[in-house]
Amino acid sequence: MFPLFRSAIYVNASNKHLRDASRGSEPSHPITEKKRWTSGKKLLDEARSRGEELPLIFAVFAELTFWAVAREITLYESSTEYQFADLQPFPEKRYRRSNLVVRSTGAPLPDTFIKSYALVQTPPFLSEENSIEKGALQIPQPTPQATDLADAPPDRVQTTTYRILRDTVLARRIKIIHEFRCQVCGHTIELPDGSRYAEAHHIQPLGEPHNGRDVIGNILCLCPNHHAELDYRVSSITLAKLRCSEAHAIDARYVDYHNRLIQENSRVL
Ligand SMILES: [Zn+2]
Repeated sequence: MFPLFRSAIYVNASNKHLRDASRGSEPSHPITEKKRWTSGKKLLDEARSRGEELPLIFAVFAELTFWAVAREITLYESSTEYQFADLQPFPEKRYRRSNLVVRSTGAPLPDTFIKSYALVQTPPFLSEENSIEKGALQIPQPTPQATDLADAPPDRVQTTTYRILRDTVLARRIKIIHEFRCQVCGHTIELPDGSRYAEAHHIQPLGEPHNGRDVIGNILCLCPNHHAELDYRVSSITLAKLRCSEAHAIDARYVDYHNRLIQENSRVL
């Protein structure tokens, strides 16, 4: 679907509208806007003539939520219908309106911008966000929650909740890349409805005192056993032995961090 055109359309749209309209790589169901996207339509024509894709960047209030590529823009007397394809989420709270630059002025789109439509420069982070292979970029379904959650004693709830909360969009993308197979042992759990279950592990833990980052290079797709072994630092990680995918490069610095923690712990013992 690449390359991307140098300009893009910024538009406000509710997450629910987008998800409901999305049909994956097929053109979405049309969404109606109460404004004529005259310049937006011209941009789409220009992008097409160059064999490039026109990005649509979606926001809710000041936060950028999703992006997609424009498929059709149809102008009516006082409204517009647009269709998109390949809807992809941005990592939560990573980008704001002010990360976009207005096409005509070269100035950042202020966080206080109130119009729901603007023409902006295609930001470099769109290509970076797309560095994961396209097949992995469908919107992943959330991992089912553990059914023992409600009955667990409080301290247990905290642990379990921590793991479930870390089932971010990024983590789910990584599970899809690995088809929910453990990167240590290759095992996957098939659920009764035919879906698969795996867990995402941050190699250098998030939060104090470790302050690991929520980036793909710091995340592993694991079976519950290997997840627990790494969480409780029972085993070190040998990068060369992990099941890897070209679409998911693991950063050796995080692996070193994990292995150093284990060494330090064993010294204390
Ligand atoms: Zn495993």
